Amino acid sequence: MEENLIKTYQCEKCGHTTLEEVMENVVQLSTVSHLDESGCVDYGEHSSQEGDVVQYQCETCGEPVRAEDGTIPDNGEDLRDALKFRVRIGQCAEKSE
Ligand SMILES: [Zn+2]
Repeated sequence: MEENLIKTYQCEKCGHTTLEEVMENVVQLSTVSHLDESGCVDYGEHSSQEGDVVQYQCETCGEPVRAEDGTIPDNGEDLRDALKFRVRIGQCAEKSE
């Protein structure tokens, strides 16, 4: 069975458990759903393309995940290694289903 490592994530600062990815240089595409006489535009669906991951951070306080050597992961493989390290040193809550 595949393990979901994100379930091991817990913010070092505030203890919350939702992790978000921060990207820059993203191209956002939005469906234009409404345009009125004054030029006011409303949007429907959004999607994004491209972009570079800056860091993974706590959704609540913005504290970034750090790897064992203090660097900030910017890809899934480094994030995996960082979360595994946190579990190993006991900084993460081990949550089981
Ligand atoms: Zn936090």
